Order: sequence, then structure tokens, then C-alpha cells
Amino acid sequence: MTETNASVFDMAMEQFEAAADLLQLDDDVRNKIKYPERCLIVSVPVRLDDGRIQRFEGYRVQHSTARGPAKGGLRYHPRVNLDEVKALATWMTWKSAIVGIPFGGGKGGVCCNPKSMSSGELERLTRRFTTEILPFIGPEKDIPAPDAYTNPQVMAWIMDTYSMNKGYCVPGVVTGKPLELGGSMGRIEATGRGVFFTIGCAAEHLKLKLDSLQVCVQGFGNAGSVVARLLDEAGAKVIAVSDSQGCVYNGNGLPPGKLIDYKNRTGSVSGFPESEPMPAEDLLHCPCDVLIPAALEDAITEDNAAGIRARIVAEAANGPTTPAADRILQAKEVFLIPDVLCNAGGVTVSYLEWVQSIQQLFWEEADVFKRLQNIMRQSFKTVLDISVDRKVPMRTAAGMVGIERVARATRLRGLYP
Ligand code: NAD
Repeated sequence: MTETNASVFDMAMEQFEAAADLLQLDDDVRNKIKYPERCLIVSVPVRLDDGRIQRFEGYRVQHSTARGPAKGGLRYHPRVNLDEVKALATWMTWKSAIVGIPFGGGKGGVCCNPKSMSSGELERLTRRFTTEILPFIGPEKDIPAPDAYTNPQVMAWIMDTYSMNKGYCVPGVVTGKPLELGGSMGRIEATGRGVFFTIGCAAEHLKLKLDSLQVCVQGFGNAGSVVARLLDEAGAKVIAVSDSQGCVYNGNGLPPGKLIDYKNRTGSVSGFPESEPMPAEDLLHCPCDVLIPAALEDAITEDNAAGIRARIVAEAANGPTTPAADRILQAKEVFLIPDVLCNAGGVTVSYLEWVQSIQQLFWEEADVFKRLQNIMRQSFKTVLDISVDRKVPMRTAAGMVGIERVARATRLRGLYP
């Protein structure tokens, strides 16, 4: 398969094989942990505001429960399909293992255009989707969370639908809930903050000062806007940001706080007064120290990787770099922080939220961030050490850490029956 028609799941499998070969993983374990355990496709009929009924297709994939319940976000997007959800679930398995939390990997999605739907339509879509996957989820089985175009409100609807069916309140069925329903302090910004911590570790390793960095962010959403704000607060200069509707540039630095307010008001970064417009594809090639792809898959490909001029690529998004682009970046000696490590702050604080939900005992924000920082720094060090010792790219090293841990759990559990 050429890169242009390779699927995202093929890409996840190619990354798996590279790490599994270096681990000399035997075929029995390799084949057991490579493929998703369960893939569920559901029909989601929804009554629209105009009275018509529209059918949507939804997916929930549990890639692995070897180390604990399946865990992973839920995405609403017109491009969602089973192949993508399988890949995202696979990455969740290695990610949970890399940060050492007792979860497996899962992911869900509904193929829809949330931007064209009303709040009532989104609520009915969410509740019907939850009902369709209800037998497969639960605090001990599979725990959804927000991903692209889903948010705490969507999690609240899932939690309510699940609880109504059970007959009692089950806050632990989702993470990323609103605080009022047992969400964790710090969860909303956990992914971006985790990305920030890993960039700090990478800068330390490369002997770069955070306050001298110039940064470009593709995808100014939850993950992208938070990391932009934290880098700005640390003295770095955010010079370009984009979203699905536009891209803005200011060589003297954009103010992320004001940009967030502006985007909340207008729906896009496009037209931000203290900036000049830039073609979206130029952002990737902007001279800078740190490039943060924080939108969707396939952002950095063999067609555009050669033009990247950043010293560090920090993958806030899942799967933004194709394998062919990976090889180009390696040849250019770009330091890449792979998605399964870089954006693991989200699942880490999801784990902290799940623990709090189960105990009904809640921690201060500073506690949550301290735990997050410790886990991210430790995980970065573990991956970097392997990358340096074995002379392998950071992505392969991260895969080796995650896959090895899942393989060990799988061997210990043995084969049922
Ligand atoms: P989000 O919906 O809040 O933001 C996504 C942003 O990307 C939006 O601003 C959108 O306009 C922009 N975008 C979409 N297509 C684009 C394009 N072609 N060019 C530029 N911008 C584009 O989503 P999010 O939660 O921030 O997720 C973003 C990425 O981070 C996804 O890959 C997701 O899987 C990953 N991620 C999110 C979390 C989390 O906790 N939210 C955790 C781990 C990983």
C-alpha cells in the first residue's frame, strides 16, 4: 500500500511492528496484543429539529483490556470511521501503559458534523449512541472521555443516560465530566499541560531555554490553545496558530489568552486583530523552534515534511505524522515527541478523575497538576533513556515501553480458557 492510500490503522500497525521487532516479541503475544479485542458499530437514529429522523453511524473499539478497563475519548467528526477509531484505540493502549496507569485502550466516534447540529440534536445523538453502546461501557469495563468536538457537556449526557439506565448515579462511567458532576480539577487543560511538560523536558534535553522558543500551533482547540497559553506564560513566543477556518501570524508573538477569548466569541482565530492572515499550509513550514500539530491525523506527510523547519515537533494530536514523514523528520534530526507520550496528560488526569469519582474524594488543582507533572516527567525520561540507549527514534522507544508493559501483563494473565 502506498502512503497516499494507507489507512490510519495500517499506520498504527506499522509503528507497532517496528517496536515489536526491536523487542523481539514472540508471535503468540504479538498477535494477541496487536489487534482490537472488540469493535462495535452502531446505528444512531436521531430526530432532527425539523422533525426528520437521520441515521448516523457510531463506533466504540476496545483495543485492549490487558492492563485494566478500556479507556479513550469519543470523537464527533464527519471523517470518523471504523479504521480511524481502531487506530486511535490502539494508540490509547500503548499510551496508558507508557504513563503506567491501570487502563487499556479504547476509542469511540460518531460520523457527524457537530458544527451543523443544534445543542438539542447533539444531546439526542449522544443519548442514543450511549444507549447503543451501554452494555459495553462502565467504570470497570470501558470509560469514554472527550476528544475532538466533544466536551464536558457531552460527558454529562453520557453519564446521565448511563445512570438512568442503571437506576443510580455512576459518575465513574466517563471522565472529563463537569466539576459539578464529579469531574477533576485540571482535567480540561490536562492534555495541553501534559504537552507543555513534555516540551519542557525536550527543551532541557536539547539545552534550549523555554523562554527563547518560537512556537507554531496547528489546531487551536482544547489541547492546542492550552499549550499555547502555558508556553506564552513561560516566556516563549507563539508566532502562528491555525484552526479549521484560518491561520494567523505575528512574528512578535500572539497573545494566546486574547486569542482564546476571540475564538470563543467569533468561532475562529481567523481575523484576530493583532495578527496577519497566513495560508494554513504555510504554518507547518514557518521557521520556529517548536511545531505543535494539535488538530487531527495526517497533518505531516511525505509531501510537506521536508519543509518543516522546527527543532522540536510535539504531537499534541493523535497520529498527526505519517510513517513516511517520520522518516523524513528523523533524517532532518528533528526531535519528535510522539503522540502516545506527548498528549498522555489527558488520559493521566482522566485516571486521576476516575480514582476521585470512585472514592468520592476530591483533590485540589495543585495536587492534580503535581501528580501530572511527576508522571509526565518520569514517562518522558523512561522513553528518552531507551531512545538514547537503543539508538531508536522517540516514537519507537515509546512504543517499546508501552508494548513491553502490555506484553508482560498478557503473559502473566495467560490465555483464557
Ligand atoms: P478540539 O475539537 O478542541 O480542537 C481541535 C482543533 O483543531 C479545532 O480548533 C479545529 O478547528 C482545529 N482543526 C481541525 N482541522 C484542522 C485543520 N485541518 N487545520 C488546522 N486546524 C484544524 O479537539 P482537542 O480535544 O483539542 O483534540 C485535538 C487533538 O488532540 C486530536 O487529535 C485529539 O485526539 C488529541 N487529543 C485530545 C485530548 C483531549 O483530552 N481533548 C487528549 C489526547 C489527545
